[in-house]
Amino acid sequence: MLVQIKSHAQRLGVFQEFQGGHLKIGIDLGGTKIEGVVLDERLRVTARLRIPTEAQQGPEHIISRIAGLVHELKKSNGIEHAAIGVGTPGALAKKTGLLKNSNTVCLNGYPLKDALEVALKQPIRVENDANCFALAESILGAGRGYECVFGVIMGTGCGGGIVLNQKIRSGPQSLAGEWGHMTLDPNGPLCYCGARGCVETFISGSGIEKMHLAQTGVCVSSEKILNSDAPEFSTTQQGFYQRFGSAVANLIAVLDPDIIVLGGGLSNLPGLYDRGVAEVRSRIFGGEMTTPIVQHELGDSAGVIGAALLAP
Ligand SMILES: [Zn+2]
Repeated sequence: MLVQIKSHAQRLGVFQEFQGGHLKIGIDLGGTKIEGVVLDERLRVTARLRIPTEAQQGPEHIISRIAGLVHELKKSNGIEHAAIGVGTPGALAKKTGLLKNSNTVCLNGYPLKDALEVALKQPIRVENDANCFALAESILGAGRGYECVFGVIMGTGCGGGIVLNQKIRSGPQSLAGEWGHMTLDPNGPLCYCGARGCVETFISGSGIEKMHLAQTGVCVSSEKILNSDAPEFSTTQQGFYQRFGSAVANLIAVLDPDIIVLGGGLSNLPGLYDRGVAEVRSRIFGGEMTTPIVQHELGDSAGVIGAALLAP
């Protein structure tokens, strides 16, 4: 089998030398698109495909979309065998193996992993997408060389993942790193999870817009609110950075990671790395803070690369 992989790869010019590794396929299952990549044994992306999820057509359809994408990646790259990892919002419940907490709601309560293994006729690994982001950044990105990496996704929602010695820390409820649902304000806005004042209700695009609307009665995009110098946005900006400071100081108090890597759309905000970090520093227990808080290095690809890295 190894010889077959080697000859296919050589024919394709995928890599020059074979070191006993395996090709890996990573799948990032999003609500609107499914992305797939192939990693060679040196962990370089050698192929990439992206298709619409068509989630409205239900779980079985999504499974067949993923199976089709894997088939296409294999066929067009001459691959017979590859280890497969899948990143998805939510997590597999440890007892039942059913998916929970996904924003692709039709998949909640669905045996995603088992169904994919049947469709793909091989064992696969499934992980939370923020965990995949943290794994990729810890092995190939901004968290390289650090023992404990906390990866943060701040975009439409707010997720996170913990990687210890290049292994995802998941926990008995598969909840490790879910800092988006730590309570910042018990009287705060209602979160979709049912609680009030979760980090995500403040540290996310929609959270910022709602904060601004509540304070001013005006509906403005989060991008404009956070990037404008106009005085009418200064209160909302200050509130955002203060909430970021509290949320990150809380997680440092529990985990004290060696580095925090920020990803997602909001991570492009320059203010996070000076103003935001200053707000964290001012709230650290004991006042000493050396934790680097840095932007991701792998861009939007981190999640799908991390999914591929799930494969042993
Ligand atoms: Zn919540």
